[in-house]
Amino acid sequence: MGNVEQLFCEICRDFSDVKYTITPITEMVKNVSFTYNKKAAKCTGCDSEIFVPEIHDENLEARLAAYHTNVL
Ligand SMILES: [Zn+2]
Repeated sequence: MGNVEQLFCEICRDFSDVKYTITPITEMVKNVSFTYNKKAAKCTGCDSEIFVPEIHDENLEARLAAYHTNVL
């Protein structure tokens, strides 16, 4: 996967260059605070987030891993 990739943007209704961002997110679940890096794919045309199933899965795994690291 390169840095620039084209994905379909529903706002632009066209294939658009995408940039990947990583944002640290801190959450609190059952009194356990944990931080994980949330990835997102953003359209460079309108700056809206584009849903990518693989990235969604990665975020879920990163979130779970961060939670379990802090619980143990
Ligand atoms: Zn767009």
